[in-house]
Order: sequence, then structure tokens, then C-alpha cells
Amino acid sequence: MWHIRVSELKGVKAWEGLDSAMTIDLRGDGYIKVLYNEARKGGEPLSLRASKRLFGEVKEGGKVWIATGFTILWAHRPETDGILGTAVLARILRDMGCEVEVLTDSWNAEFVDAYLKEEGINVKVLHISNHSDVYKLKEKIDDVKALVAIERPGRNEKNVYHNCVGEDVSDLCAPIDYLFEEAKLLTVGIGDVGNEVGMGNIRYAVKKYHPFGAVCRCPCKGGIASIVGCDELVVSLTSNWGAYALAFGLSALSGVELDLDGEKEKKMLENAVQVGLVDGLDGIAKPSVDGIPSERSADVVQLMADVAENLKT
Ligand SMILES: [Zn+2]
Repeated sequence: MWHIRVSELKGVKAWEGLDSAMTIDLRGDGYIKVLYNEARKGGEPLSLRASKRLFGEVKEGGKVWIATGFTILWAHRPETDGILGTAVLARILRDMGCEVEVLTDSWNAEFVDAYLKEEGINVKVLHISNHSDVYKLKEKIDDVKALVAIERPGRNEKNVYHNCVGEDVSDLCAPIDYLFEEAKLLTVGIGDVGNEVGMGNIRYAVKKYHPFGAVCRCPCKGGIASIVGCDELVVSLTSNWGAYALAFGLSALSGVELDLDGEKEKKMLENAVQVGLVDGLDGIAKPSVDGIPSERSADVVQLMADVAENLKT
């Protein structure tokens, strides 16, 4: 009888592996597991939930908006985290027959555009600077099936945007997060710290456990916890990995192949450095994500690819 019970469980267990890989605690501080448990609340694996909902919206095609780009204060350039995930998600959605447009800050657009081109992904990059630009987007949103944020700044309860060390970075953040609050369509948020779009769903955990969650280092003193929530939240040790999990999930549900493994991750990070993206921790253009070097990230992405093989029926 054992083999029958195991076989019945296989579907969910394979998705558990994807969740485990994307939340592997390489820093060893326990924070990502706290966020993960809070986001999951005992329900189905996050990768499964988000993949199923997104697939449900786009299986017949249609337009998806992906918001990304987190400018690093010390570098005045966007970080590697988020943009690689955007490229991978855009690729699978394109191959599934969707139209993808990427939303980012005007000052990051040239980097995002250059990176996507480097990866061979020709999608429109929409340049957003201010509320007037966001208002114009709202007028076009009826054509959009789903809105996804990958490592996209979300403001706190005092309408201030922060980086992960509690500094005010509002001047470097176009107010794209407002779109997610008022949208009457599926919203998916992917984050890794708590200051991003989507993390509003678990802001009390961010306030409790992040050193700058409740009180930041800027005069607002409101903390970094984003108030901007979403329908489906994915948390992962780097936001890229959460986006990859979603892409593997879409690939499994749609039957469309996804070319992503450890070697591909290394190549993508080389391309990222080529166009000037920086590591979010130190603002240096080098092949790493949030201080995690290319080789180590490639190990995790390879694990995700191996686990994703088990999602195929
Ligand atoms: Zn503040």
C-alpha cells in the first residue's frame, strides 16, 4: 500500500521541493523561513499556489505586466536581483503565447532593456517616473491579465520607500506599487526582505523580525515593512529564485519547456555584469545576487531544475 500513498502525494511533494530550494537559508539567520511560514500559513506550497493562479489567467494567452528594478543607493544602478527573474518569467510567458511588458523606473529602463536584449527577450519596457505615468498605465490596465512584481520597492505606511538597511530611497522609486493596490486583476508579488511589493501580506512578521522592519534609519521612523500586498505572495532567499520557481511551475502546468539550470544562471549573471547591473548588497557590478556568488546561486538553480523535473507528469 505504501507505494500507492506515496504516488498520491507525489504532486504536492514535488512542489515542496521547489519551495525548499528557493528558501534554502544560505545566510543561516532563520529570517527567510519566518517569512515563508507566515506567507504559507499551512496552505499549499507557495510556488504551486502562485503558478496555478497565474496559469489560470494566462493559459489562453494575453498580456502580463512584470514590474521590477530596485535601484541601489550607493551605485544609482539597478541590482541583479529581480531583473534576472523577470527575464526568465518573461521568456516562459512569451513561449506560452503571452505578451509581456516590463514596468520599471525611467532611470533603470536602459539597464533593464539592455539586459533583456542580452538574453534575447524582445519585450516592451515601459518607463515610469511619477504618479502621472502610473495614472496613464491605469487607463490601459483593462487589457492586462496579471500583474507580477519581482523585487519591486513597496512603500511603508508613511508612503516612504526603503532599502534593506532602513535608508530612505524614495527618490529612486517610481510609484509603480500603487498599481498593485488598486488593480482588479491577479497580482503576484515576489520578495525576499519585506520592503517589496507584495510583502504587505505579511508586514507584521517583517516588523517583528527584520532589524529595520518596525523602525527604519530615516526620519520617517515608520520601518521598512511594505504595506503593499498582493493576491499571491512568493518569498524566497533571493527574489530571482522565487521568479524561477514560478517559471518552472508555469512550464510544468503548460508543458512548455523552460531552458534554465545552473549553467544558464552563470551565463545570465555574466550578461548582467556586462550591462552594468550591480549586487544589491555592495553596489558593485559583479556576478552575484545579494552577496551570493554566481557559483552558489547556480547550485541552487540546478537543484530547482532537478526538482522541477519531478513536476512533470
Ligand atoms: Zn523611514
